Amino acid sequence: MTHPLWEHIRTVPDFPKSGIEFYDITPLLNGHHDKLIDAMIAAVPADVMADTDAIVGIESRGFVLASLLAVRLNKKLILVRKAGKLPPPVHAQSYGLEYGQDTLEISAELEPAKVLIIDDVLATGGTLKAAHSLCVKANLTPLGSLVLLDLPALHGDLGLTYWTVLEK
Ligand code: 5GP
Repeated sequence: MTHPLWEHIRTVPDFPKSGIEFYDITPLLNGHHDKLIDAMIAAVPADVMADTDAIVGIESRGFVLASLLAVRLNKKLILVRKAGKLPPPVHAQSYGLEYGQDTLEISAELEPAKVLIIDDVLATGGTLKAAHSLCVKANLTPLGSLVLLDLPALHGDLGLTYWTVLEK
C-alpha cells in the first residue's frame, strides 16, 4: 500500500538541474504536522527513541523535521550547519558532491549525548555520512539516523544504521 504521506510530496522534474527529479517535501508542512511526526516516530525502534537525548537536524529541511520531533518528544536539539554559519569553536567535515565538495559544521562545545540524526532526503548519502562523522568528532554517540525519504538507487551501503519513512 502507498504510504499516506506520499499525497503531500511533490515531484519536480529537472530541478535544480536538468535530469534531476526533485522531491519537494514542503507540502507536508502545510498542516500535516501530526501525521508527519507520528510517521517519523513509528519509523524508529521505540527503545532507540527512548534512549535518545538529543535530535541532530541537518540544515535546512532537516532542521524542520528535527524541531517537530524534538518538541513532540521533549528532546534537545542540535544543529549541523553549512560552513561558516555556526560561531567558533566548531568541528568541520567536508564531503563530495557530484561536482566539487561541501562542508558541514557542528559546535565543538556540546555535552556528550546519545543522538538521532535527521534529514529529509537521502540521495548519495554524502550529507548523512558527514553529519555522522561530525557527531563522532563532537563526542556525541549516534544511535542511528532517520530520513523521511530514501532514494536507494542513488547510494550503496552507507555503513550506517538508519531508518526511513518513505522509499522511492
Ligand atoms: P546526498 O548528500 O545524500 O546526496 O543528498 C542529500 C541532501 O540533499 C539532503 O540534505 C537533502 O535535503 C538534499 N536533497 C537531495 N535530493 C533531494 C530531493 O530530491 N529533495 C529534497 N527535498 N532534498 C534533496
